[in-house]
Amino acid sequence: MSLIHESAETLGALIASGDVSSREVTQAHVDHIAAVEPDIHSYLYVDAERALAQAKAVDSRLAAGEKLGPLAGVPIAVKDVFTYVGAPTTCGSRILEGWMPPYNATVVDRILGAGMVILGKTNMDEFAMGSSTENSAFGPTHNPWDLARIPGGSGGGSAAALAGFEAPLSLGSDTGGSIRQPAAVTGTVGVKPTYGGTSRYGLVAMASSLDQPGPCARTVTDAALLHAVIAGYDPHDSTSIPAPAPDVVGAARVRDVAGMRIGVVKELGGEGYDPGVKQRFQETVEALALAGAEIVEVSCPHFDLALGAYYLIMPSEASSNLARFDAMRYGLRVGDDGNNSAEQVMRLTRRAGFGQEVKRRIILGTYALSSGYYDEYYGSAQKARTLIIADFTAAFEKVDVLVSPTTPTTAFKLGERINDPLAMYKADLCTIPSNMAGNASGSFPVGLAPEDGLPVGFQVMAPPMRDDLVYRVGGAVESTLEDVWGHTMLAQLAKETR
Ligand code: GLN
Repeated sequence: MSLIHESAETLGALIASGDVSSREVTQAHVDHIAAVEPDIHSYLYVDAERALAQAKAVDSRLAAGEKLGPLAGVPIAVKDVFTYVGAPTTCGSRILEGWMPPYNATVVDRILGAGMVILGKTNMDEFAMGSSTENSAFGPTHNPWDLARIPGGSGGGSAAALAGFEAPLSLGSDTGGSIRQPAAVTGTVGVKPTYGGTSRYGLVAMASSLDQPGPCARTVTDAALLHAVIAGYDPHDSTSIPAPAPDVVGAARVRDVAGMRIGVVKELGGEGYDPGVKQRFQETVEALALAGAEIVEVSCPHFDLALGAYYLIMPSEASSNLARFDAMRYGLRVGDDGNNSAEQVMRLTRRAGFGQEVKRRIILGTYALSSGYYDEYYGSAQKARTLIIADFTAAFEKVDVLVSPTTPTTAFKLGERINDPLAMYKADLCTIPSNMAGNASGSFPVGLAPEDGLPVGFQVMAPPMRDDLVYRVGGAVESTLEDVWGHTMLAQLAKETR
């Protein structure tokens, strides 16, 4: 395997021991990015020069005998929804094109503090609204498993960068599934931490009560190592939990589920799910039973309300959050020619700067929040949210974790759902409940669907602040896959993709 195919854990160890330099590792990724980006388009922005300078700095610190963390010198790609000083932050939108942020997101600061090397910013659906990355104003990202297919969304760039070996780690954000759903359809690992477990400071807000930064990786331990870097209390985020982060790295290394109680969610499966998705899910559940877990069927009846409630709460919060893009403070300004009033400039700018999906959600959210309809829509959705939380609470009295497929289908074709918003929204059927309730949840690759040879994801949901349980089960899932295939998904990816 060449350097680009190694895990972040291995790269970190090689760099720490001096067997390879961070500069070599970074250069290998920079070269590969240049080779495959015309096909994949994971990145909106790559700064090779700065990445190599960061790598060189880490190499010097290590050469001087400094003791750094396990990911020092390891490259990472950052979703373009996080602020990183010196690089544009666009959120995949024309309205922010060229905007340079004045401060770093806390998670970006922690990545830099760990001595990691930032390769660039990854493509995404505009303002994280979408499940395919086709809503990016800068063109779609292609799934490395099949370039005619979507890489998931909104964090399709961060997932495709991993599957295309353009970065060993990436950073994502998950409001309704934007870390987990792309992970599922690209055969990678993605975890949405407990709400409040990772800081939202410097994450451009879509729906503040749902958004959460999290790690994307090719292996479970890699995701845990990154999780450990970014997690923990941040006074800059009023919803940050002032408690120590769970030991996710230790949990990822346990690789054993003996004695654990695992609940299969009755409502997430069945009709509308691809046969291959159901088959791989079932096999994984059986493998976990063989490994000593107790499998129980659990009913969460209100999960059926999650998608509908999400598409009221999320647009409501987004319509309010996106009001700040008013042509005065950030990015684009249209029609400022001395003849137009400030209000006209705002209108012209928002008309030109926002894409169709963003406009759809602003209109929907504004309507749902309007005085005559507030109780009926937003109020009802909040009640549904309470019922979903109650379902989780009741379930976690019976079982340690809940499991389901991550997505009903494998990666669909580019263009297939772009004119059918409801079909697009259904890609997040299984992931949204955990955003509504704020609990920890991750997606792990469990092989390829027999009918189309595309990756299938397995979702593990754990109680709030028990992110360690997500990794513990994820690690066991990864082990069972090694038993079946004799190698990891990572090796499979390296073989099948460029
Ligand atoms: N696909 C979902 C949406 O369009 C979730 C997006 C996200 O998690 N950012 O809202």
